[in-house]
Order: sequence, then structure tokens, then C-alpha cells
Amino acid sequence: MNIPYGKQSVSLEDVESVVTCLNSEFLTQGPRVELFEDAISERVGAKHCVASSSATSALHIALLALEVCPGDLVWTSPITFVATANAALYCGAKVDFVDIDPQTFNLSHVALREKLELAKRQGSLPKVVIPVHMAGQPAEMKEIFKLGQEFGFKILEDASHALGSTYEGLPTGSCRFSDIAVFSFHPVKMITTGEGGACVTNDSNYARKMKSLRSHGITRSEDEFQGISDGGWYYEQLGLGFNYRITDIQCALGYSQLNRIDNFVATRNEIARKYSSDLAGTSLQLPTVALSRTSSFHLYIVRTLLGADERLGLYNRLQANGINVNVHYMPVYRHPYYKKLLGPDFQPLPGAEAYYWSAISLPIFPSLETSEYEHVVHSLTSAL
Ligand SMILES: *Cc1c(COP(=O)(O)O)cnc(C)c1O
Repeated sequence: MNIPYGKQSVSLEDVESVVTCLNSEFLTQGPRVELFEDAISERVGAKHCVASSSATSALHIALLALEVCPGDLVWTSPITFVATANAALYCGAKVDFVDIDPQTFNLSHVALREKLELAKRQGSLPKVVIPVHMAGQPAEMKEIFKLGQEFGFKILEDASHALGSTYEGLPTGSCRFSDIAVFSFHPVKMITTGEGGACVTNDSNYARKMKSLRSHGITRSEDEFQGISDGGWYYEQLGLGFNYRITDIQCALGYSQLNRIDNFVATRNEIARKYSSDLAGTSLQLPTVALSRTSSFHLYIVRTLLGADERLGLYNRLQANGINVNVHYMPVYRHPYYKKLLGPDFQPLPGAEAYYWSAISLPIFPSLETSEYEHVVHSLTSAL
């Protein structure tokens, strides 16, 4: 048996959707990109969607749309994939980290307020804060939004894990409490396009900028031209953009996958409920979902109460039993690149440290078989 911690579910309809695209006129820059974008917008209740080649490129163009410039400060959670912080570095910004809430593993609004008050006194407030909806559970967005109003920063949600989750009854991506939110369509995430990502926003100005940045900074719409059109072929580059486009082939897959998002979320929640009841008597700390939120359960993360040795032992035992458990994530500031960047004065964050040395992600994905699930629970309970 070899059970991953997460994997994609590709249906016959998904395959047919991609094949239809392959036989059509456009493989890229065709109609399927907008169809997919409109479907995402509608699903999450945001006015605009700009799909791109990955969540990493989406984070990059989102930060540029928020006018993050060299020397600006961007704060995020240390418990995230490195791409969240890297995107800020691409803009020349300085990155700093806010400690996490031990219950939700999300950027803590309490720690954020403390850090903001200190930064205000020192004149070093962030331009953008990026909460990460860890494992699919939305961060405390209302509180973070209030702090944004008070201290004057913009909010970019890294919702890579969280398509299909809700906060105060609103789908993640509605941007009620943020400027822009970003999703990932990497195969382990909630839906997949192979590689792919998307920015959603209610601000038409941000949307226009991100569209432009996605494709070289080029515009073909006459009302944006600075000069006068020389003819039908004419286009203008107005800024320095990238080729961060997503293809029609990818969007054909994503559009078809999106039809099953409710199903994916429900199945993941069912597996999470089962884990939580079957592991209830053990010494593990089980994940909880805070009030007024639902989780997409991209990950099911348990914590060993006895700490690092117990976690390592458990990890090795499960791996030996063919269960590819994982750890999400080592705090970003622990990576050698960031250590060097942050310098010797950087203080490790106690909440992130305690989390890192105790967390382990169990297999959770829609096609997890009952026999596989039972193997995981059996291996886990006998290892404890
Ligand atoms: C996966 C992930 C990313 C990057 O997504 P890509 O689509 O692979 O670029 C960024 N942030 C978080 C939290 C992620 O899990």
C-alpha cells in the first residue's frame, strides 16, 4: 500500500473536457480561460477573477496590483508554503512573520495587533498582510480587516487551501474582508488544472492591473492606448508584465473540476469527521474548526502532545507502513535562504515553533478508500 497525503480526482468528464479543448481552435488565449474565470467568480461571489499559471504567479501579480514596491513591508504567517513569502520578495519587499493561533494554525490577530503597535511606534508598518487559510480553515478575517482599517494596510488572502470553505456564511474568495484572494489549482489542492492559480477581487482597478501583468503588460483595448492605433494589429505595452498565462487546456480541466467542488468539500469533511471520532480517545490533539467557519479540509493536521520525538517516531512508523504522511510546514524563516535574509537577530516565533515540532498531516482526499482509511487509523492507533 502506498497512500499519499493528498491527490487529485480526475473524472471521465474532466478527460473529455480536456480532449474537446485539444480538438478546438484555441489551446491558449481562447474562450475557456474566461469561462473558467467567470465560474470561479460566481462560485466565490467576487466580481472579478484573473486566472494565472500558478498561485505563486497569482500572489506576485496581486502584490504588484496592491503596489508593493522595493523596500515595502509584507507580513505573513510563518506556517505556509514558501511561495507566499517569496512572492513578496519578487516585488523587492521585505518579509516579516506574525505568529500563529495554536488552535487554527492561522496568523493570530492577537499577535498581529501586538506587532502592529510596536511597528507603529517604530515607523515600520506593513503595506500588505497576507493571512493564509491553513488546511482550508479561514483565518480570523473580520479582526484582521479591522486592524487593516486601523493601521492602514491592505489584505491579500492566500486561499490556496481554502476553495469551498466559508467564513460568516460567505464563501472564501468573496473578499468581503480583503482586497484580493488567491487560489491554487496544484493537484493536491481542492480542484486542479495541473498547474494553475487565480486571483479574485471586487476591485476593477486591481483586476485590470493583474490582467495586464499576467500578459507582458500588453493591452489590446483601444480605450487604454496612450498612442493612436496604427491598424488592427496594433497593441501597446504599458508596463512591465510577465507571461503568467494559464492555458485553455488547463482551464478546460479546471472548469470541469469546479462542477464537483461541493462534492470534494463534503467528502473531505466526512473523512475529517471520521478521523475526529476514531482518534478521539488517543493522545493526539485533533484539528478544530472555529465558530462561524467551515473548512475545506485540504489537510487534516494532528499534533502530538509529547512533542518532537513522538512526532518523528510517528512519522517514521507511518511511512514504514506505506502512509505518506507529511508536515505542513516548517516555518518559512527556518529555510536557509530566509535565515540568511532575516539575519541573526530574527527571533523564532514560539507558536510556530511549537506547532512545527508537533504537527503531522494525515491522508485526506476525495478518493481515499475505506480500506486505506482503516489502514491509516490502525497504523496510527497502534503506533501511539
Ligand atoms: C500550494 C500553495 C501555494 C503555491 O501554489 P502553486 O499553485 O503551486 O504556485 C502558495 N501558498 C500556499 C499556502 C500553498 O499551499
